[in-house]
Amino acid sequence: MTRQNLKGLDRGELTTFFASLNEPAFRARQLFRWMYGRAAQNFEEITDFAKPLRARLQEVATLETLTLETRQISHRRDAEKFLFRLMDGVHIESVLMHDQASNRPARHTLCISSQVGCPVDCKFCATGLMGLLRNLRPGEIVDQVLQAKRLSGSKALAGSPITNVVVMGMGEPMLNYDALLKACYLLGDAEGPNLAPRRIVISTSGIVPKIERFTKEGHKFRLAISLNATTDDVRNQIMPINRKYPIAALLQAAREYTRQSKQRVTFEYILLDSINDSLADAERLKILTRNIPCKINLIPYNPIAEAHQSSSGLETLLAYRRPSFERIEAFLANMREGQNTVTLRWSKGDDIDAACGQLWTKVEKAKILA
Ligand code: SF4
Repeated sequence: MTRQNLKGLDRGELTTFFASLNEPAFRARQLFRWMYGRAAQNFEEITDFAKPLRARLQEVATLETLTLETRQISHRRDAEKFLFRLMDGVHIESVLMHDQASNRPARHTLCISSQVGCPVDCKFCATGLMGLLRNLRPGEIVDQVLQAKRLSGSKALAGSPITNVVVMGMGEPMLNYDALLKACYLLGDAEGPNLAPRRIVISTSGIVPKIERFTKEGHKFRLAISLNATTDDVRNQIMPINRKYPIAALLQAAREYTRQSKQRVTFEYILLDSINDSLADAERLKILTRNIPCKINLIPYNPIAEAHQSSSGLETLLAYRRPSFERIEAFLANMREGQNTVTLRWSKGDDIDAACGQLWTKVEKAKILA
């Protein structure tokens, strides 16, 4: 008999499950608290349940858990990367970044994956080279947070070292929309990881119909858009998704999101040497975002020094480079003359391939190359 995986189920689904065992509804709440709030790995840990119930659950159900394969810590100790194996043997990565600015409380942000690989094929991104292996299920998305909490030594809800979650790891979140949203609500639950919606950021390459749906449904999670170019010509080259959803349509969707949600949108702009980092680009970027309440994050590119021979024999040379410090500074100074908030973000964890655009599990890569 196949055992039912309970991780990823919401309260209503857990209630139905316990009803099928002729157990009272309050069991659902107990399990919910243990599974999501205290990151219980198995039924034996759930001491609220008597032994016979734990044994019964063991027979008919599981709490599928990600298995940690490796954990790397950056030299500066400001980032750690977790490589997790899923139940079917594929792998994903999550990155925990520590930000200890002196003028505000420490921030511990976990960057999580939404898919195994990614179908969007952004040309500067290592994950894009993998292609899409499969979508993650809600339980697998949530479990990245639960496992990172356990691994980083927190106990239960209080004292969690994870203060923020960004869905910017492997995959395009909006192409796994339903599973992702379900996971975000589980992460935000007061009896689960208890992350306020404003502390969960969903980052998209620009899947316009899904941004429109997200806006229409009125979710409180934050939205970030990976813009990276100021002309369709350049964006078509580096982000082929732009051919389907060009800049004008994307910005219109972003504008509408800010209007309806009353929240700012974040634009991420990866600076690529001699591709999108000219002062003319900075001027255009200011004009494009002028009437959109937003924050702009400039992210100097993290090089991926690899030539990749894919299984189809197509060779992709990752030839993008980080601009010089002077070019980055000039771009930033120009942008600061505009009306929107602009920040320069140096990615953490570049020495362990954990920075923006560098996630590409070595294990999956080895399989692809085999
Ligand atoms: S940048 Fe994001 S959307 Fe683009 S290929 Fe990489 S993971 Fe996919």
